[in-house]
Amino acid sequence: MTLFDSPAFEGHEGVHAFFDEKTGLKCIIAVHSTARGPAAGGCRMWPFPSADAALEDALRLSRAMSYKNAMADLELGGGKAVIIGDSRTMKTPALFEAFGRAVEDVGGKYWTAEDVGVSPADLMHARKTTRYVAGLTGHAAASGDPSPVTAEGVFRGVTLGVRRALNRDLDGVTVAIQGVGHVGAYLAEKLHAAGAKLIITDVNQDALREVADKTGAKIVPPHAIFDAEAEVFAPCALGGAINIDTLPKLKAKVIAGGANNQLAEPEIGAAVYERGMLYMPDYVINGGGIINVAGEIRALDRGEAFDPAWVEMKLGRLMETLAEVLDRSKSEHRPTHEVANEMAKARISLAAEQKKAAA
Ligand code: NAD
Repeated sequence: MTLFDSPAFEGHEGVHAFFDEKTGLKCIIAVHSTARGPAAGGCRMWPFPSADAALEDALRLSRAMSYKNAMADLELGGGKAVIIGDSRTMKTPALFEAFGRAVEDVGGKYWTAEDVGVSPADLMHARKTTRYVAGLTGHAAASGDPSPVTAEGVFRGVTLGVRRALNRDLDGVTVAIQGVGHVGAYLAEKLHAAGAKLIITDVNQDALREVADKTGAKIVPPHAIFDAEAEVFAPCALGGAINIDTLPKLKAKVIAGGANNQLAEPEIGAAVYERGMLYMPDYVINGGGIINVAGEIRALDRGEAFDPAWVEMKLGRLMETLAEVLDRSKSEHRPTHEVANEMAKARISLAAEQKKAAA
């Protein structure tokens, strides 16, 4: 397969590969679209088995960021960086300085941030060689940990889903949460405060204990979360939670969680719809985190301090967009993920046309 034949290529504006001999940096920066503004998306460090696998991941993730940023109504396009390597053994300050130079070479068309395998401390080194870095701490524009904002958006999304599918509020509703890490733990606390009953799972026993102590949640082993007697299933761990093996087990009427790529493949979204379950498209419901990062990019661009009120305004608008997805799904009798993809593509195309007309 060549780059241009990849199903994830879908009109990428630019794909940049970098190698730094001194530090061993091998990285790919994919810029899917800058129609709405500079591309923004995190940097992932992973021991990809091949350059092809890294490229495929970069393309897929960068396109997903275009959709996510468009649905969050941000003046940002979609991009993603991947560094090929083991984050446990290969990280050095010099490697991230070299990564910063790679970001700088893209000339402001791509803003980076943290993702799997990359921490704010690593990005501090990248910041020495490029200004196009967000997700840092310790300066006035810094946005800090995005997880609480992501969890707040997911919480509001769960509330909306329960209202639409079950015609009630959260009091007494049972929510099964897969993964109580950063997002899942904050979500659990918010749901508990709203009167929901919780069933939780994780592979990390300490995280489980801590959340259960705070919320009274029932703990189940990882495989049992799919069989839980719950009205809502909230995937907050890794991707692919909804697949051909798990879907037949789920009893939930609403699927609403923070994880990325919840549908193992797009076809499963149609099966979810046919079973009468309400799926809140992942990249819409979990857009709070990127809104928070966008708040930092905005503040850095303007030379201002981070503005939480702007983030709250955007989060409110995100929930309106989520409601619009549900409305259209209902009136057009189509799965929510299809409606969301169509809306995202339309927003990107409109921005591209406006940009062309203004040029
Ligand atoms: P995290 O690593 O803090 O939490 C993930 C949790 O899932 C961990 O506690 C981990 O032990 C657990 N887990 C892993 N495999 C599991 C399994 N098989 N069964 C049960 N639990 C398992 O990550 P996070 O920041 O909370 O992010 C969670 C998800 O949300 C990810 O998919 C991430 O991409 C997505 N997301 C996060 C943010 C954010 O702001 N942090 C924003 C948007 C999307």
